[in-house]
Formats: sequence, C-alpha cells, structure tokens
Amino acid sequence: MAAALEVRALSVGYGPVRALHEVSVDVPSGAITAVLGGNGAGKSTLLRAISRTLGFHRGTVDAGTVHFDGRPLGGLSAAGVVAAGVVQVPEGRQVFARMTVADNLRAGALGARGGGRKRYLASLAEVHELFPVLADRAGQRAGLLSGGEQQMLALGRGLMARPRLLLLDEPSLGLAPLMAARIAETVRRINSTGTSVLLVEQNASMALRLASRAYVLEVGEVALEGDAAALAASDEVRRRYLGVVDETAAEDAGRAQASAPVLPRWSA
Ligand code: ATP
Repeated sequence: MAAALEVRALSVGYGPVRALHEVSVDVPSGAITAVLGGNGAGKSTLLRAISRTLGFHRGTVDAGTVHFDGRPLGGLSAAGVVAAGVVQVPEGRQVFARMTVADNLRAGALGARGGGRKRYLASLAEVHELFPVLADRAGQRAGLLSGGEQQMLALGRGLMARPRLLLLDEPSLGLAPLMAARIAETVRRINSTGTSVLLVEQNASMALRLASRAYVLEVGEVALEGDAAALAASDEVRRRYLGVVDETAAEDAGRAQASAPVLPRWSA
C-alpha cells in the first residue's frame, strides 16, 4: 500500500536539546500507525514537526523530510498543512474553554479543505453522530464538560477540518478505562471511513490493538518497529510497555535480593 505519510530521517531540536534523531515513520494510506514511548521520548515533537507547529514551541527541524501523498509538507505553514488534509489533535484535550461546544466545532471547520455551508453541515452531522453528547451540549461552555467529553470535543473539532490524515496525541491520557475504550472505538470508526491515523500513545495496549504497524521511540530514536500484533507479542514490548512481568527475571531478581548481604543504606 502506498504511504500517505512518509517521514524520513527527521532530526528536531529545541535550542540545545536534541529531541528527535533521524526518525523515519510511514503511515500507509487508510491505515492506523502507532508511535509508542515513555515520557520525553519525542512523540509530541514528531507530531509537531509533521503539523508544522514546532515553531510555536521554539523547536526547529534540523534535517529530514516529511511528505504527504508525495507532496513535501516542509515549506508549508501550520494552516497550509491543515488545508493539505493533515490535522493534529494535540495532547491534553485542548478546547476553547470559554467558548460553547458549537463554537469550538465551528472553529475547527475554519481551516477545512473545500469550505461551504453544505460541507460544514455535513461534517457537523457526522461529528454529532459520532458524539451525540456534543449535540446535546451545543450551547454549553466547553470548559464545563467532563474530561472525556472534552476529549470528544477536541477530536470532533479536528474532524470538522475533514482530515485525510489525523494526528492524535495521547487521546486516552487521563481518562477512566471505559472512556478510553470509547475513544479507541471512535478512532476505529473514524479510520473505517478512510481517514488515515498516526496515533501517539503511552497506552501501548490500546495503541497496539488499534494499529496495524507501530514504532517505539526511545530518547528521540526509533528503537523498535514492526507489525503491531508482532510487537504486542514481543517479550521486550510486553515487559517494558505493557506492564507484563517477566516471571523468570522477577524470580531471579527475588533470589538475588534474598541472598544479598544486608548492607547499611549509605554504603550502597
Ligand atoms: P510525553 O509523553 O511526556 O508528552 P513525548 O514523548 O511527547 O513525552 P516530547 O514532548 O516530544 O516527548 O519531548 C521530547 C524531548 O524534547 C524531551 O526531552 C523534552 O524535554 C524536550 N522538549 C519538548 N518540548 C520542548 C520545548 N518546548 N523546549 C525545550 N525542550 C522541549
């Protein structure tokens, strides 16, 4: 399958801080690709570099290229990337808290590809079908929504721009398991209508269930990559990212501890 998004040897820094080093990632057309990694691994930085929003964080692309459907995104503004069909939903349920739910969604449509009232109403109907609560609360201030509802609004606002590729930054962060599962199901539904997805997550089990392919970032570099199901089954990913305890290693560590001489703490 042709790659919709091709990131090649991307290196990014924030002043003296090197955040990404020669990172290459593909999102095939129509696929969900996941990027996993712990705090500070560079996941948000990758999305910012693709969406051309790095400048807002004082970051710079030092090397590498990003192409979407064969077209370089490198020279575009953030608005130009949205107009090209690539839309980021940033981390932390960023909604306009003082604006109504309806106005938040209207704001999302501002950068949409091919405007027009008809398109707008069709997008709104689709978002309301995915998230009926956003229709029920249309006149309410967004800041009064629950955390899960704010995440739905952030996603809904992204969808109003009619993306062909959605960049999702930790959509399950801070949500109760049931709400995280609902968001995951929604991501699956959005993808089933043909929208490609690049999903950045610390919640590896959720991301690996949704994605067909995944990358693991460690301190700004791709440490592992492959088929999502194969990664989910790999011992290293299970131990480090899925919280599965390697029983043999745990037993060995327990035995070593039991036989170790008891030392005063300051001598360690
Ligand atoms: P998290 O899961 O905690 O959000 P992440 O994988 O998204 O982490 P990034 O936020 O991309 O990681 O950060 C990558 C590195 O760049 C970290 O070392 C971080 O401290 C640094 N960094 C991020 N944003 C900035 C900034 N605006 N200025 C300076 N350094 C930054």
